[in-house]
Amino acid sequence: MRECFLAVTEAAAGDPALTDDRPQWFGHPAQLARLFSTEAMERFGYYGMRALLTLYLTKHFLFSDTTTTSLYGGFTALVYLTPLIGGLLADRYLGSKKAVKFGAVLMSLGYLTLCFGGETAKPFATIDGQRYEVVVAGEGDAERQYVVDGGRQLAIKGNDDGSVSLLGPDGSEARRIAKGGFASQGERSPWFVAIMLIGLSAVTVGNGFFKPNISTMVGELYAKGDRRRDAGFTIFYMGINLGSLGSQLACPFLAEAYGWWAGFGLAAIGMALSWGLIQFAGPKLAGYGETPAAEGPDRTLAIYAGALLAVPVMYLLFTNLMAAPPPVAGEGIVGYLLGLPILGKVLFFTFLVSVIAIPIWSARVGTRQEFEMMLAAIILVVFNVVFWTLFEQAGSSLTLFADRNTELSVFGLFEISAGQTQFFNALFIVLLAPLFSALWKALGNRGLEPGIPIKFGIALMGVGAGFLLLVWGTSFAGPDFKVGLIWLAGLYFIHSAAELCISPVGLSMITKLSIARIVGMMMGVWFLSISCAQYVAGVVAQVASVETVGGQVTNLKVSLDTYAGVFQTIGLISAGIGLVLLLGSPLLKRLMHGVK
Ligand code: GLN
Repeated sequence: MRECFLAVTEAAAGDPALTDDRPQWFGHPAQLARLFSTEAMERFGYYGMRALLTLYLTKHFLFSDTTTTSLYGGFTALVYLTPLIGGLLADRYLGSKKAVKFGAVLMSLGYLTLCFGGETAKPFATIDGQRYEVVVAGEGDAERQYVVDGGRQLAIKGNDDGSVSLLGPDGSEARRIAKGGFASQGERSPWFVAIMLIGLSAVTVGNGFFKPNISTMVGELYAKGDRRRDAGFTIFYMGINLGSLGSQLACPFLAEAYGWWAGFGLAAIGMALSWGLIQFAGPKLAGYGETPAAEGPDRTLAIYAGALLAVPVMYLLFTNLMAAPPPVAGEGIVGYLLGLPILGKVLFFTFLVSVIAIPIWSARVGTRQEFEMMLAAIILVVFNVVFWTLFEQAGSSLTLFADRNTELSVFGLFEISAGQTQFFNALFIVLLAPLFSALWKALGNRGLEPGIPIKFGIALMGVGAGFLLLVWGTSFAGPDFKVGLIWLAGLYFIHSAAELCISPVGLSMITKLSIARIVGMMMGVWFLSISCAQYVAGVVAQVASVETVGGQVTNLKVSLDTYAGVFQTIGLISAGIGLVLLLGSPLLKRLMHGVK
C-alpha cells in the first residue's frame, strides 16, 4: 500500500499537469481561454473575409475566373508563407505577444481597407475585336446580360460548343459568334483595385506576425512532458472553427443585405476585437510570449518599418499574378514552370530545394535513424501538399460552384448564399473533433490507433472521395443544371473528417520526427508545403474557370461539366495517391522508428 502511495506521488511530482498551481480552465491553464478567444476572433476575421473574397473579385470587380483564382491562390499562398518570417522575428526579437498584437493591427486595417471598393465594375464585351456595352437586368437567377448593339439589346447566351448567341427580344438568334470570338471584361477603377490589393497585402503581412506566434504561446502554456498539450491544441482548434463558423454565416449575410463593405467591415471588427483581447490581456498573459532578452539595440521599430515595406512587395507580387496568362495545355513541364508568375517560381524552387537538401543534409550530419525519421517527415510533407491543394478549393472553385451550379435552398425553407456554404467545414469540425478525439482514444486503448502515415493516407483518400461524391451528385442536377445543397454539404462532411486525420496530426508529427536543432526550420517547411498547396489550388481552380459576363456564367451546362470534369480528375488523383500512401505505410512506419 505504502509502495503504491509512493508511486502515485512520484508520478505526480513528474507530471506537470498535477503540479500546475495556475488558475485552471476546463483542466487547462486559464491563459488558454484568452488565447482561444483571441484566435477565435482572428479566424472570425480571416474566414469571414475568405467567404467573400472570390465572389467580391468576380462579381464586384468583374475579374475573369482565371484572374480571380490566380490572385486568390497567390494571396492564400502568401498568407501561409509569411509565418516563416513572422515566427523567426518573434523568436529572435519581438516575442510572440508583441508580434501577435502587431499582426492583429495590420490584419484589421487590411480588412477595413477592403471595405472601400467603389462602384461595381461596368461590364463590356469585345466581339471580334469591337467593343460593345453590356447591360444587366433582373436579379438572382433571373439576371440576364444584354449586349447593346446600335439601339438593340441582345441577350447573351453561351452555347454548349463554346460559341455565343445573341438573341433578339423574341428569343430568335440575331447573331452567332464562333468560339473564341467573344470576350467579356469589366471596366473598373484602377484606384479601387489598388486599394483592394493594399488591403490583401496588409492581411498577408499581418498574418505572418499573428498566426505562428499565437500557436507558440499555446505551446508555452505546457511544460515539457505535460500530457495536456495535445488536448490543449485540440481545444484551440475548436476556437479556430467556432470563430470561422460565426463569420462565414454573418459576413456573407451582411454583404448581401447591405453591400460588400458591411461584410468586410464585420471581419475588421472581429479582428479588432482579437487585437483588444491580446492588447488588454494585462496580467492574464503576463510572463507568456514576452520579448526575449536580446543583446544589442531594440529592433522593434526597425521590424515594424520592414513589415510596412513588405506591403508594397506583396502588392507587386499580386499584380504580377494577375497579369500572368492561365496555364496552357501541352506546353510541357519546363515551359509551364518558366511561364509561372514570380511567386510560383519562388515557391516551387524553395520547396524543391528543401525536400531534396534536407534529407541529404540529415544523412550527412545525423545517425542512420535520424536520417530515416527526417526522410519520413519530408515524404509526409510532400503528401501534405496534395491534401491542401484539394481541400483549399473551398474558397475558390467550390464557392463559385456553389454560386453557379448549386440549389442553395435549405429544405425549401430558406436560401443560404454561396459564400455561406464555406461554413459547413467549420460546423463539421466543431461537431466531429470531439468524436475523433474519443475514437483515437478508444482505438488507442485497444492498441489499434492508426499510425500517422495511415491517417495521412485516409485523409488523402477522403479529400478525393469528397469530390467524387459531388461529381456523382452532378448526375442528379435538375434542368437548371444545379445540384442540391446536400451534395456540397456531403463533400464538406467528408473533407472535415479528412482534415481531422491530417491537420492536427501534422504539426506534432514534425516535432516528433525532426532532428531537434532544425525543428523550427522543419515547421517552416510544413507551412511552406501548405503555402505551395494554396498556390497549386489556385492553378487547379484556374483550370476549372468558365466564361462569365458581368460575373455570371454564360452557360450553366458548360460550367457544370467543367467543374465535374476537374473535380473528378483531382478526386481520382488524390484517392489514388492516398492508396499509394496506405500501401507504402508499412515502409514509412519502419522509417519512423516507433514515432506514433
Ligand atoms: N482551419 C485551420 C486554420 O485555419 C487549418 C488551415 C490550414 O492549416 N490550412 O488554422
